[in-house]
Amino acid sequence: MISIIAPCYNEQDVLYDFYQTVTKVMKENQYSYEIVFVNDGSRDQTLSILKELGEKDRRVQYISFSRNFGKESAMLAGLSYSKGDAVIIMDTDLQHPPSMIPRMVEAFQNGSDQVIAKRDRAGESKSRSWVSSLYYKLINRFVDVQLEDGVGDFRLLSRKAVDSLLSLSEYNRFSKGLFSWIGYKQEIIEYENVSRHAGDSKWSFFSLLNYGIDGIISFNNKPLRLSIYSGVAVMAADVIYVLWMLIKIIFMGGVDVPGYFTLISAILLLGGIQLVALGVIGEYIGRIYYETKKRPHYIVADDNYTQVSQSQKNKIQKVLS
Ligand code: UDP
Ligand code: MG
Repeated sequence: MISIIAPCYNEQDVLYDFYQTVTKVMKENQYSYEIVFVNDGSRDQTLSILKELGEKDRRVQYISFSRNFGKESAMLAGLSYSKGDAVIIMDTDLQHPPSMIPRMVEAFQNGSDQVIAKRDRAGESKSRSWVSSLYYKLINRFVDVQLEDGVGDFRLLSRKAVDSLLSLSEYNRFSKGLFSWIGYKQEIIEYENVSRHAGDSKWSFFSLLNYGIDGIISFNNKPLRLSIYSGVAVMAADVIYVLWMLIKIIFMGGVDVPGYFTLISAILLLGGIQLVALGVIGEYIGRIYYETKKRPHYIVADDNYTQVSQSQKNKIQKVLS
């Protein structure tokens, strides 16, 4: 069986289209499947559409969070509720074309544990794709796992890979890195970038920036190392400068008082470096703080899993009485 996992946050405009397109592809190829929708605290009609779909089609499962927990949590919930031998994670805005599913399943049947759909960056603003490609060049230098440009969450995972992912219990989840970290046999399939069908992207400039920082911090302690290096470099420069001044004082006599420029630049430079280093350390401590709390990744307010088992219970009751 194949599980489709679809996180949705305020997707009322596309949800129905998504459901129909996916269903069509799955039926045409005669797959046995389930669609696991995860409603990530939407404030629009998403949940009521899901409820309706769930009643009409028993292949539709949904989980609804008590508030917005973010896409990472939504994917995690989808993975842990899914029952398929293969799981496909897809955005509900139809930016991940369902027509790719047969090719992904084929690759899975040929023995790949992760089939990754890679998009080109057509139709995206020049500046955004430039920034992203620069980011990936930088991050691959920094991070222990390799991340690839244009590769997102659209992928098929075998049950083995899903179980490995679920065994990583960290609170700060940076999926792109986790996917790469678990390894297994991977295959990449390319597709053409599609723009959003309806609704708005939930990414603002700052959320992208934060995502970028997460990517760097989640996977190693190199930024800490970097602050040590810059500290040492500045200290070395300091020592040289002080020695030079000392020599000047001893052999050329006296101190020249108007040293405002050197003074202020030393203060500002050192202050800046210290603040950056403190920030980096703080970022790691913040993560330790969140990890130690061991809070759940999400809270489920409503789903149709319990309802299914309830109706089964009722049936059993009927048979017994
Ligand atoms: N999403 C979610 N929770 C969030 C934000 C987004 O579940 O807090 C879902 C959203 O419904 C969509 C997918 O994640 O299915 C990708 O979101 P979006 O299209 O906004 O991102 P983009 O395609 O611009 O990267
Ligand atoms: Mg999108």
